[in-house]
Amino acid sequence: SEQLALRTKDLPATSVDGFRIRLNGNMEFLEEIPSLLAHGAEGIGLYRTEFMFLDRKNVPSEEEHYRAYKQVLEAMGGRPVTIRTLDLGGDKVPSKAKHEKEPNPAMGLRAIRYCLANRELFRTQLRALLRASAHGNLRLMFPLISGMSELREARSELEACRTELSRAGVPMGKRFPVGIMVETPSAALIADRLAQEAEFFSVGTNDLIQYTLAIDRQNREVAYLYKPLHLSVLRSIQNIVGAAKAAGIPVSMCGEMGGDPIYALVLLALGFDELSMTAGQIPVVKNILRSASRAEAQALLNSAMELTTAEEIERYIRTEMERRF
Ligand code: PEP
Ligand code: MG
Repeated sequence: SEQLALRTKDLPATSVDGFRIRLNGNMEFLEEIPSLLAHGAEGIGLYRTEFMFLDRKNVPSEEEHYRAYKQVLEAMGGRPVTIRTLDLGGDKVPSKAKHEKEPNPAMGLRAIRYCLANRELFRTQLRALLRASAHGNLRLMFPLISGMSELREARSELEACRTELSRAGVPMGKRFPVGIMVETPSAALIADRLAQEAEFFSVGTNDLIQYTLAIDRQNREVAYLYKPLHLSVLRSIQNIVGAAKAAGIPVSMCGEMGGDPIYALVLLALGFDELSMTAGQIPVVKNILRSASRAEAQALLNSAMELTTAEEIERYIRTEMERRF
């Protein structure tokens, strides 16, 4: 994989029939950037900012947020950096930030819901992001959007912060794209509407699969039912990508499915513009994308979607991928 990384680092992930997919990196810490770049990451597709909040007694200040984002934007040297606003709650529980125990945390006060319920904390992060946008190529996205109202509310909070900073004469960058994670079944089903007001989509399959199949992603008892190739998941993703294409906005995948080489041709067929993954996965996925055609990937996906059970579809894709690579 390291050899492959060296050989393919500066090559584009373009299929043999000319379909280009950008490969980005997922990250949590600044220290991961050199390795992502060495493996050929063209940008950051998901920066999980909540890790700044975990394992500590106090909450980070605006200055601390600002410095962290500025450093990442600068380290990426003008390449796109997709920063996700706080995805606290659910499986990621902060030690200090006020948080009640919930009976069903995955369906509770997490991600954008948590931020809209804790406005001062949300504004602190948004102000820092607006300031940091002066230092690179920022794209902002909101997690776990389940309906248009949340997107509008989050965007209006961002605009309020922008106005406030601008009045105070605080330096900021130009306007940057604001997108959403599509990771709830409700967002997937109204993707056409959301695409009118979001500037890009990023599919979060870890959650989309959990909620579509009603399988707790943390529960080992039901892990055998957690199937990325379940027909319902494939149809859901088809709807999301179709809505993005119809509206002319870019669509990425940043869940774990996006970096698993087994799914590379399925994702090529589905029509993703970008995929985001860990450093080590980039050269492997790139190698597959460069040696296949979109037409062949589409034939593969069509045959797979004729099948019915998740096991059948999985077995079929696995067999075909092993035969080819
Ligand atoms: C996802 O849900 O796929 C995702 C990328 O977000 P997280 O795993 O942080 O919830
Ligand atoms: Mg998620």
